[in-house]
Amino acid sequence: MRKLTILGATGSIGASTFKVIEANPSAYSIVALAAGSNHQKMLELCLKWQPKYAVMADEAAALKLEQSVKQHNLSIKVFAGVEGLVEVSTLPEIDTVMAAIVGAAGLVPTLAAVKAGKRILLANKEALVMSGQVFIDAVRQSGAELLPVDSEHNAIFQCLTADMQTRMGHCDLTKSGVSQILLTGSGGPFRYSDIESLQHVTPEQAIAHPNWSMGPKISVDSATMMNKGLEYIEAKWLFNASREQLKVIIHPQSVIHSMVQYNDGSVLAQMGEPDMATPIACAMAYPERVPAGVAPLDFTKVGELTFLEPDYNRYPCLKLAIDACYEGQHATTALNAANEVAVDAFLKQQLKFTDIARLNERVLNKACSMDRLSSSYDLESLIELDRMARTIAIESLREL
Ligand code: NAD
Ligand code: MG
Repeated sequence: MRKLTILGATGSIGASTFKVIEANPSAYSIVALAAGSNHQKMLELCLKWQPKYAVMADEAAALKLEQSVKQHNLSIKVFAGVEGLVEVSTLPEIDTVMAAIVGAAGLVPTLAAVKAGKRILLANKEALVMSGQVFIDAVRQSGAELLPVDSEHNAIFQCLTADMQTRMGHCDLTKSGVSQILLTGSGGPFRYSDIESLQHVTPEQAIAHPNWSMGPKISVDSATMMNKGLEYIEAKWLFNASREQLKVIIHPQSVIHSMVQYNDGSVLAQMGEPDMATPIACAMAYPERVPAGVAPLDFTKVGELTFLEPDYNRYPCLKLAIDACYEGQHATTALNAANEVAVDAFLKQQLKFTDIARLNERVLNKACSMDRLSSSYDLESLIELDRMARTIAIESLREL
């Protein structure tokens, strides 16, 4: 039986993880649940799953949870803050961590789990984007098992050989005959909209993804295709891919979740319903297969599959992210931080949809001119860089 900590338990990936556990009740035991501030939702989960530990990153929310846990006579230890998140990510009694906190907030606990040598089910792409080599080096040093949950990366993972699957972060694509990784994306809700109309997009419209149901931040990122940009950077690190080996392609139907092209002309694709329970189950049970509670793909109902090149005029954030990827760690960390500030401001209706890219570009340019000389980072300097980029982003918000 696998013993789990779920970081981001109250979110969308958290919900899909519970769905997989429900389909395989004897295979998984939940030791700890962690989330940000929604203590009511956390109480519901505690009542249902009876973990040994529960963490709220927000101190006030942790106090409220502690009170409710007492009222319900539950024997659950409640922890608070980043220390609490780290504590449950490194418990000797767990072997697996679902890393599904949204954004940079996930980096410290996820990296702690990596250093503790756990099996890491990585949904929190921002953690890898903002730390890159530091993250991958920690995986190699500790012998942690890194398994991608992001549907595209999980699809690519499934299309690789077993040998490559055990070398996340340092596999040799060329030696293994891989000529290209084709990272697919739906193009989001505005793929056919008039580009001029995008400045009037509301948060409700941006969050309504045509194919996937996800948390608000990643939904906005999907609409700008910053999500694909972050995934591009994530793929570079996970699969040790060069610029020539990594290509983004728009596939509006989201039936194929990504592909790997080999040098003999073969292309392997992973397909399925757009349901995160599939990649989660794949990572949780790896190398076995378990039911995920997902309907099988019915090819007679799939219809036509289409593919097109991304248009950077429509998706300037995608271009920014790909450029940042080859600029260096300072650029990707700063871009990720800027984007978190921009998306938050857009969701609060303080920023126009099309200004997300403008804000990101401004911060990226400033960060690149300020930090061009740094070539190696550690956790502290990455966090400092993230903080600096957020400060610039907040200042730039006023200027836009
Ligand atoms: P969500 O907004 O639904 O959930 C986010 C979770 O993170 C919540 O449990 C929240 O409490 C927690 N959280 C937020 N701030 C926190 C903090 N400071 N400290 C601790 N916990 C905090 O988001 P989601 O859609 O589930 O996405 C989670 C991650 O998975 C993101 O990195 C996203 O990019 C990635 N991902 C999501 C999907 C999807 O389908 N939802 C697919 C691929 C990758
Ligand atoms: Mg994805």
